[in-house]
Amino acid sequence: MRAVSRYGESHPSQSMEQGTKRPGSITFLLVGLVLLVSVGGIAFFAPIFECPGLAHSVETQCYFCKGNGRITAFQRWRTGGNLVETWEGKEISEIETMGFRKTSAQNCFALTGLRKGQQITDARQRRACQQLLAEGCFESVEIYVLEHTPPTDKVTVALCVIEK
Ligand SMILES: [Zn+2]
Repeated sequence: MRAVSRYGESHPSQSMEQGTKRPGSITFLLVGLVLLVSVGGIAFFAPIFECPGLAHSVETQCYFCKGNGRITAFQRWRTGGNLVETWEGKEISEIETMGFRKTSAQNCFALTGLRKGQQITDARQRRACQQLLAEGCFESVEIYVLEHTPPTDKVTVALCVIEK
């Protein structure tokens, strides 16, 4: 009698367990996945690396790490682990051009993709140079980023070219 009732009790509960086991494990997997992604995301955007900003050695405010002295894995990936200029991430407030005689300075500057109000980065500066050189009108293209004195969060970008 006992054995039968035990069997009778355990049998439906066992089938119920089997029925709930599948969605349960999927939920567990999803929760695990979400946890993994969020932990990965936090680690990626947590300031864990030493800041490679050159501003630290010249005692000015570092705009790259906002003075924290640490950068995230994302920032490190963006800079390729290279040293970072003191002006990295500053806003372009002025534009100067030199060497334009046959070509229009305004039109050429538009080709660089740089504009006022935009943040200047090492990558953007390099890309802008390459883009203008690719036009084929210039012997050389140089883009200088000039800090204001005393240094602020804004910079002047000077585009200097030698036409062919
Ligand atoms: Zn820094």
